[in-house]
Amino acid sequence: MKVHEYQARGLMEEAGIPVPPSEVLDSADQALAAYDRLGEKTVVVKAQVHAGGRGKAGYVKLVSSAQEAAEHAQRMFAEPMVSKQTGPEGIQVRKILMAGAVDIAKEYYLGIVVDRVRRVPVMMASAEGGVEIEEVAARDPDAIKKAWFHPHLGLQRFQANVLAAAIGLSGDKAKAAVGIMLKMAKLFLAKDCSLAEINPLIETPTGEILAIDAKFNFDDNATFRHPDVQALFDPHEEDAAELRAKEFDLSYIALDGNIGCLVNGAGLAMSTMDIIKLHGGEPANFLDVGGSVTTEGAVEAFKIILADEKVKAVLVNIFGGIAKCDVIAGALITAAKEVGFKVPVVVRLEGTNVEIARQMLKDANLPQLKPAGDLTDAAKQVCACV
Ligand code: GDP
Ligand code: MG
Repeated sequence: MKVHEYQARGLMEEAGIPVPPSEVLDSADQALAAYDRLGEKTVVVKAQVHAGGRGKAGYVKLVSSAQEAAEHAQRMFAEPMVSKQTGPEGIQVRKILMAGAVDIAKEYYLGIVVDRVRRVPVMMASAEGGVEIEEVAARDPDAIKKAWFHPHLGLQRFQANVLAAAIGLSGDKAKAAVGIMLKMAKLFLAKDCSLAEINPLIETPTGEILAIDAKFNFDDNATFRHPDVQALFDPHEEDAAELRAKEFDLSYIALDGNIGCLVNGAGLAMSTMDIIKLHGGEPANFLDVGGSVTTEGAVEAFKIILADEKVKAVLVNIFGGIAKCDVIAGALITAAKEVGFKVPVVVRLEGTNVEIARQMLKDANLPQLKPAGDLTDAAKQVCACV
């Protein structure tokens, strides 16, 4: 789960990490009052969207008057932000952060992720912050200093000292950076983050160290432990179909192809996508109805797939182990009645109650339904339909 920058700032403030004062706007008409409350001449107006590339898209703006701040806020709310990470339709801005601007002497990078090879969190620090850190990592990996830390004991002060020195900080500046590193590591562990990043962490001309942008992601398998983190969830940033699927305990991921896949089990979903590709097709989605699927859930699954206009044919691939083939067949028949099959639906069922299921489908006499003998036959049939 991702959160917005203003929410990440809130978490950092709670943890005692120094962040410039800021205001959050829901509409452009709040800009003038927010500017007055901040009481600073120069402010930075920043669109709050999960997608990156805001600076380049013109959605991070330094301004020096209330009027200018209001104008940029107006534009950002009115025009969807288009960046490398959004797709051509862009993304609607619903909140704007207005923060007191700071003078920057130097920009650093500080980030924590889980190192999946070593199976521990790793803190990364670099003196080359601000720009895309991925570029720095690719061009000059040695410019990123790392400290791996124990998931229960946390980052140790000596490790933070080494990191601070490695990115060129000394004296009071190093002390301040070490404090921030220790607090970030604590926050990362306490909230079950999967990523916690300050970019840039800046040094002011007077030697202060501050966080002026942050990105936090949380481990979805752990958010149940953190109602405060759950409360930060913004449904507007999610794919509508994926949200609907989640409500019914379905794992749904939209893809770029035109063959809808309805499958039970993630492994079977993967191999279904593979076999579709093997026969020259492109999956439009990954939809796993899971083992304990109900008729209601399966009907919803069909509705989600059929609502996608890109879908030109559907492959239903069910192995009835815990899930029963007759439940799926019943859902197919209900979905056909409720939403209608406008595209061919190739069905491969195997396993528990398969004979009952086959009979049900035969009796229902659905014109678009094409029974398949085995998985290869199913894949060939569905690829021939598109
Ligand atoms: P991002 O583009 O989404 O990563 O947004 P950031 O908040 O990181 O801002 C991008 C860049 O804008 C930073 O690297 C800074 O160079 C600049 N910037 C952001 N806030 C300030 C500020 O308060 N003062 C100054 N001088 N520059 C800023
Ligand atoms: Mg940034």
